[in-house]
Amino acid sequence: MSSSPLQLVRGDLRGFAGYSSARTESPGAAGGGTPGQPSIWLNANESAWDSPADQAGSVRRYPDPQPQRLRTALAELYGCRPEQLLAGRGSDEAIDLLVRAVCRPGGDAVVVTPPTFGMYAVSARLHGTHVLEVPLRDAAGGLDTDVEAVGTAAQAGGARIVFLCSPGNPSGTLVPLDEVRALARRLDGQSLVVVDEAYLEFAGTPSASTLTEELSNVLVLRTLSKAHALAGVRVGAVIGDPDLIAVLQRCQAPYPLPAPSVELALAALGEEALTVTAEQIAAAVQARRRLTTILQQSPAVTRVYPSAANFVLARFTDPQHLLTGLIEAGIVVRDMRDKPGLGDALRITVGTPDQLDAVRAVLHPTSSRAAPSMEATS
Ligand SMILES: *Cc1c(COP(=O)(O)O)cnc(C)c1O
Repeated sequence: MSSSPLQLVRGDLRGFAGYSSARTESPGAAGGGTPGQPSIWLNANESAWDSPADQAGSVRRYPDPQPQRLRTALAELYGCRPEQLLAGRGSDEAIDLLVRAVCRPGGDAVVVTPPTFGMYAVSARLHGTHVLEVPLRDAAGGLDTDVEAVGTAAQAGGARIVFLCSPGNPSGTLVPLDEVRALARRLDGQSLVVVDEAYLEFAGTPSASTLTEELSNVLVLRTLSKAHALAGVRVGAVIGDPDLIAVLQRCQAPYPLPAPSVELALAALGEEALTVTAEQIAAAVQARRRLTTILQQSPAVTRVYPSAANFVLARFTDPQHLLTGLIEAGIVVRDMRDKPGLGDALRITVGTPDQLDAVRAVLHPTSSRAAPSMEATS
């Protein structure tokens, strides 16, 4: 049995109740009218009249902070219990909540594994928390996380949070669950181990959320922004120990989830929508294979990293020349050259077959355009 992660919450926040809103003091469906239930809601200073922009009258009132239907649907999607999950404005909000709930302002430390997603360090910096870096190893199989060194750095630096990204952005590499488990055991009582699984749908491997019942310091970040094609909706989730999830909710803004976003998220979590999403994920995985081949066959490319996500990272002999060519063709990719160890690298997100044809034409200017189907089979 691992120790309670509540002991990792900032001492000054342990009795903190957060903001007490009209909605948290008097929960229930505002606007209802069933007998015995209140039907006249004059407690939140909302307008009594619908906005002319709101024909359906669906957004006049403050939204439920954690709509049960959404929480249940997300828990089912991610294979956890609803009380293990907090929905929020993308994983970005969850990262920020974790840093603020666990690290003392102006102190403590987190561990990150560069090159990695920038928001871990941004949230830590905004909070005045130190960022300890354990660079990824450029190994034969790809850019991988030195989990042993992460554990050592976390212990030596007294880190309260370790951020792992699996599949990594921009590395595309998975952190094996056995290694996450070993790290969480090693850091039990000292650090939270946060596994950011923004791209896990494209990997098709089990989630670290399967470890959360056994190891209460493991937390998992999921999002509707990538595989579910809802980046503009801003809905994500953090999964972990129910007591810690309750603390995070008290640190969250009073009305974090806009009603139209909740409706769109729920629509995307219906059975039919999930079937379409599964097809889109399969198409993205196929596109990743094709993009990998396009890159491998280009003389301008010196290394293509294997990817479990919806993008491919590669190194180029002359990345500036290629970027110029891509821009001339109206194609924007992510320049990675300012990232540690990636001075010659670009990250290309998978696109539709037509979009990949356009990338291919820039990378293989002399070859005929008649052969793209050959790549798709490899
Ligand atoms: C895109 C991405 C996210 C998504 O963040 P949201 O706030 O949910 O949109 C999270 N983590 C990583 C590593 C990402 O690349």
